[in-house]
Amino acid sequence: MSNANQKTELLGLLPAQLADALAPLKVPAYRVQQIFRWLHQRRVKDFAEMTDLSKQFRMDLQNQFYINQPKIKQKLASCIDNTVKYLYQMQDGNCVEAVRMVYHHGVTACISTQVGCRMGCKFCASAPLGLVRNLTAAEMLGQIDLMDAEYPEEERVSGVVLMGIGEPLDNYENVLQFLRLLSCQEGRAMSLRHVTLSTCGLVPKIDQLAKEGLALTLSVSLHSPNDAARSALMPVNRKYPLDQLLAACGDYFRKTGRRVTFEYAVIRGENDSPEAAKQLAQRLRPVFPGMRPHVNLIPVNPVQDTGFCAGSAAQFRKYLEQEGVNATVRRTLGEDIQAACGQLRRNEMQDHNSNS
Ligand code: SAH
Repeated sequence: MSNANQKTELLGLLPAQLADALAPLKVPAYRVQQIFRWLHQRRVKDFAEMTDLSKQFRMDLQNQFYINQPKIKQKLASCIDNTVKYLYQMQDGNCVEAVRMVYHHGVTACISTQVGCRMGCKFCASAPLGLVRNLTAAEMLGQIDLMDAEYPEEERVSGVVLMGIGEPLDNYENVLQFLRLLSCQEGRAMSLRHVTLSTCGLVPKIDQLAKEGLALTLSVSLHSPNDAARSALMPVNRKYPLDQLLAACGDYFRKTGRRVTFEYAVIRGENDSPEAAKQLAQRLRPVFPGMRPHVNLIPVNPVQDTGFCAGSAAQFRKYLEQEGVNATVRRTLGEDIQAACGQLRRNEMQDHNSNS
């Protein structure tokens, strides 16, 4: 990617691509590796900090290349737990959100994959604003780098969930590039076992992802066990109805050996009845034959103007377990800081519009 000055961005390039980009400078292979490590292990954002390169070479790099880095526009730290929510501003002024969450097993970053989203889910804070553009791989990595810059090395991000703003499979190539960079042995070397990709259900992309042979966890946002109700909540269901979606999940498991998990936002009066639990169990039982399906329940986060209220996830969990479906109730972190995705950006855009 080049910016207005025609400089090439380096953070978003894999080692071989970095070597190609640096070829005009006649850089030997070991120097390319050195620069990749500076970018991905030391995570420096300024060529001046690459102290084992000559001053002249650093200046040459500075003149022809740049390292993408979002800025922290706003930061909210929870008083209840260690959750921190970030509003980041990209170099073109667009904003996205990310959340840093501390669990007993490590630190997880929930990051955005697009500026906005075009999937139109009715309960989501980002949907009414539509899609502005895809994020680049460097902009996705930058969200994690900014979190890590604020904490000691031993508290760096060890897991990533692609559950911020955007539909990751609608930005397939950049997300794949990001995953390759994240797991690159010469760089961050994060195991993709610690990465979850959440999708609203773009069936052809799920099929494509199954062929990549990645060890990540695929999570499908289901939210309803029947087509009429799901289509009303999630327009994507009109294109890829439940039969197709769940068949793709079954195929994904057969091809990758990795079970797909399901997200279910419990909405009062919409999808929280014993009947809904029964239908959900019937739908999920055949997907992974001989195994109990697993559903993550999230009490829906009320978003201004959507009119949805949270149902009881604990109650719905009991209904599901009676039907032989395992369910966990997602611990809500950072409740005091609007950790619900999309709401900071939405507020920021509303403020911006009312001031202009
Ligand atoms: N586009 C992807 C990932 C981003 S959304 C997807 O649809 O999965 C991450 C998760 O948050 C999804 O399960 C989404 O359905 C859910 N979500 C969105 N708005 C929500 C809300 N108001 N309350 C609870 N969950 C919500």
